[in-house]
Amino acid sequence: MSDLWGDVYSNAKLLEEIAPIAIDTALLQGVVMRTKESPNSSDVVNFAPFTLLPSPVPTALFEQAKSVQGDFNLLVDCISQNPSFLENTLSSTIKVDDFIEQLFRIYRHMLNEGLAQTVFLGINRSDYMFDCRADGTTALKQIEINTIAASFGGLSSQTPVIHQHVLKALGKPEEACKILSNNPSLGISRGIAKAWELYGSEKAVVMFLVENVQRNIFDHRYIENELWSSNIKVIRRRLTDVYERGSLDEDKCLRVDGYEVAVAYFRTGYMPQDYSEQAWEARLMIERSRAVKCPDIATQLVGTKKVQQELSRPLVLEKFLPDQPEAVSRIRETFAGLYSLDIGEEGDQTVKIALENPEQYVLKPQREGGGNNIYGHEIKEVLERVKNSKERTSYILMDKIKPQPVTNCLLRANGKVQVSECISELGMFGVYVRQGEEIVLNECVGHLLRTKATEHADGGVAAGVAVLDNPYLV
Ligand code: ADP
Ligand code: MG
Repeated sequence: MSDLWGDVYSNAKLLEEIAPIAIDTALLQGVVMRTKESPNSSDVVNFAPFTLLPSPVPTALFEQAKSVQGDFNLLVDCISQNPSFLENTLSSTIKVDDFIEQLFRIYRHMLNEGLAQTVFLGINRSDYMFDCRADGTTALKQIEINTIAASFGGLSSQTPVIHQHVLKALGKPEEACKILSNNPSLGISRGIAKAWELYGSEKAVVMFLVENVQRNIFDHRYIENELWSSNIKVIRRRLTDVYERGSLDEDKCLRVDGYEVAVAYFRTGYMPQDYSEQAWEARLMIERSRAVKCPDIATQLVGTKKVQQELSRPLVLEKFLPDQPEAVSRIRETFAGLYSLDIGEEGDQTVKIALENPEQYVLKPQREGGGNNIYGHEIKEVLERVKNSKERTSYILMDKIKPQPVTNCLLRANGKVQVSECISELGMFGVYVRQGEEIVLNECVGHLLRTKATEHADGGVAAGVAVLDNPYLV
């Protein structure tokens, strides 16, 4: 284990002293979450889990992630406009995965009907880990790109001050100065504001589509409040609210509770559990409207793991970015090995390599939100069961990224102050806006570092496994 803060972590008394200071600073900064017990009330809140100290991130890899974000934005936008690619890529998946099939049904509906919207808004987060290679070097490898409900842009705008303060309190003012400032919520809200402006109706609102259980509401509030400060009205509704009280005008204007909706920003809608039959109806209604959807159904499909795997095939990126060889190589640099499990010789070969060396891979179904991936001996169990049926095509196989563990202390409400062996995942937030054919905004708007103990293979902050962190560039 590398130990950037070894002097602190070897001193139990110091840890006990500094942890409450860190926690109070988090509360003062509004790095908070609602509780598990009362997820829809703000009467009692907890601090969101975070690391006592920032984790080391190699400067060159951080810069690499930042500089490839604009390329990823353009790539996602291009794929979302390519029906034959999406059809071909997902054709085997939709036969075995009901959820993707439902999304695809709405996508097909929209292909037949034609789009009423002319302005497009993408807010995504590309996630990476730092892979340790045999030659001792580290490489930036993409875990996935989230094209719907990419979260923690709000809270991560508030975390730098915590570590700045903790380092100062530890008598490390120079180190404190190295904590990067970060404000994804500002960049995200600017993207939403731009889409709202191009939609072109003063009195129209931005609608956040939210879950029934809203523990992470403060993360949304940062973005909402930025919009309000630009005099843009925000409403929060569930998909069932839209089903019950939403309608489409003749000119495909979406109205909910009397408000005209300019932008529908999804912070739900990425898991099967997010949809009742009524919620599916609402999704279709929103999709058919001329409101700017973030994301539209096509862009949501671009975020599937199956698409990620197909993009890693030779010459596929070149097809989407034909005149941009440099962007293509920047993107490709970040790809880990990805393998298809489609029926046929190639998929058989994937089954074989996975069964021979399950520790080297991660088996992934088409799901979002953490906790769905399969590792180690379980890969064997699952593949033995599905290897001869088309059910196997609901998964993809990916090389397992192996980062160098570091020491950190994860602070959780009601948790012990405990030092663990940890690994981090870096996310970069990208925002783009397109009007018709023209890209009018394409930016990297900030970052998110999440850290978890190495004993947990999977899971994010919302799932209670990873915690918020800041990069300490080394
Ligand atoms: P989800 O859509 O559920 O967030 P991810 O692809 O991001 O799915 O995987 C969830 C978590 O699993 C990641 O945050 C990471 O910790 C771990 N993980 C995913 N892919 C890999 C990989 N190839 N190597 C190592 N860990 C991985
Ligand atoms: Mg993820």
